[in-house]
Amino acid sequence: MPGRSFRIARIAGIPVGVSPWWIVIVALFTWVLGDSYFPEVVKGISPAASYALGLASVLLLFLSILAHEFGHAIVARRHGIEIEEIDLWLLGGVSRMRGEAHEPGDELRYALAGPAITALVAACFGAAALLLPASTPPVLSALVEYQAYVNGAILVLNLLPAFPLDGGRVLRALLWRRSGQMRPATETAASVGRGFGYVMIALGALEFLAGAPLGLWLALIGFFIVMAAGQQAMGAQVEAALSGVHARELMSAPVVSIPARSSLAQAASEYFVPYRYAAFPVVDESGRAIGLASVDRLASHAPRGRAGEQALGDLADRDPQLIVTTEEDVARLLERPAFARVGRAVVVDDAGRPVGLISITDVQRALRAYRLGGDGAGRGAGALAG
Ligand SMILES: [Zn+2]
Repeated sequence: MPGRSFRIARIAGIPVGVSPWWIVIVALFTWVLGDSYFPEVVKGISPAASYALGLASVLLLFLSILAHEFGHAIVARRHGIEIEEIDLWLLGGVSRMRGEAHEPGDELRYALAGPAITALVAACFGAAALLLPASTPPVLSALVEYQAYVNGAILVLNLLPAFPLDGGRVLRALLWRRSGQMRPATETAASVGRGFGYVMIALGALEFLAGAPLGLWLALIGFFIVMAAGQQAMGAQVEAALSGVHARELMSAPVVSIPARSSLAQAASEYFVPYRYAAFPVVDESGRAIGLASVDRLASHAPRGRAGEQALGDLADRDPQLIVTTEEDVARLLERPAFARVGRAVVVDDAGRPVGLISITDVQRALRAYRLGGDGAGRGAGALAG
């Protein structure tokens, strides 16, 4: 999947980021359009105008893709799924969701919302291209025609049943609706997606060998589909093993907590050194968890100089996402970005007092153990609850 992206805007409360790859793609497409496409379409265009037109086309395309992603985001929100971020990267956009649809109907509406926007955009540009008067400057009509064409092409590609493309999500939603089970539907859709990905790689490679450089592009898309489909299938397996398993079943307990008013020096000499644990819950006067203090965190966040006097309450990671109840579903816990970032969470009782710590290592160990037992075997309480 794409590397780290940086934020460029916040629209309707949803952060929009661009991956460094996106910049490369903007440059590459501007070059391809400015160098060969527009000089061919607009006779006698100057190189400067051609490249400017190329850049304008790519940026307009960027807005169309953003509109597509917002189509998904608005529908997701209506169904109570939070969109964490919209990322623009190599192949277009990705909406990072927190959680998944709970009904195949929701998934279907979510999957179709993006392509519906793209279809609308393509139709608008198509209609504009047809309705533009003959006196329109050729540069403008070329720009409009290109948008109609490229949005149409994206629509077709996007609706291929190649999970995780939108068409593949539609396929999954339909399979899910028919069988009533999401996981097998995800696995089937991911296999079909992988098949499509391999076909695209093969076709792209053949095209490239036959002298068409854009074949490389098709192969690259195929490659990402194969990778992403594999990740989705893996995610479905993890979900299968861990949903219905509660945090209390995998946590390490009992746990030793550090009072928030302890200084860093006290925490080190009374807790970190004698116990040699990598992390401790931090508690307020009433014993309720307020955060997590780990060796890594303290090493990177403690100020230099008078560091030892700093209160632990100020140094701890106080992201509320890192505090979970004993009944937290482990599959849901894995979806928390804070848990992925820190690798640990504090497990608390009904009164908010720490009763254990759960780490990624605990979860991975459990996964390996469940895999030993084969499909669904040995899941203990999880199997009953799931
Ligand atoms: Zn989409």
